[in-house]
Amino acid sequence: MADCVFCKIIAGEIPSNIRYQNDKIIAFPDIHPLAPVHILIVPKQHIATLAELSEKESLLIGEMAQVANQLAKSEGISEKGYRVVINCGKQGGQGVYHLHMHLLGGRQLSSALG
Ligand code: 5GP
Ligand code: ZN
Repeated sequence: MADCVFCKIIAGEIPSNIRYQNDKIIAFPDIHPLAPVHILIVPKQHIATLAELSEKESLLIGEMAQVANQLAKSEGISEKGYRVVINCGKQGGQGVYHLHMHLLGGRQLSSALG
């Protein structure tokens, strides 16, 4: 997708500190971290929003969650706890229209969501 910042990171056109990747998923730190650990878990396929995820692609979310769990362990936040978030669409607070999961942790997060 030509004008998509995450597609550019996936293509290596924008450098990032890749924390994990396989054939389907890549993970890199958020450029504006909201917590000591803030990593974005992103499918390599351009899917704009969670709402556009087709039934045949839905297993991808489980794989992204597995990557989040694995990164939480390697980042040392697994035991204390962490949050995974997917923002969807304008009122959901989505800013980059390429599906992604936020992994946040390393401090006490507010119980207030939104
Ligand atoms: P959203 O609000 O769409 O759920 O989250 C998009 C996230 O992408 C934001 O937290 C923002 O800081 C992050 N972001 C935007 N542009 C870039 C970039 O070029 N590189 C990285 N690593 N993160 C980005
Ligand atoms: Zn994209």
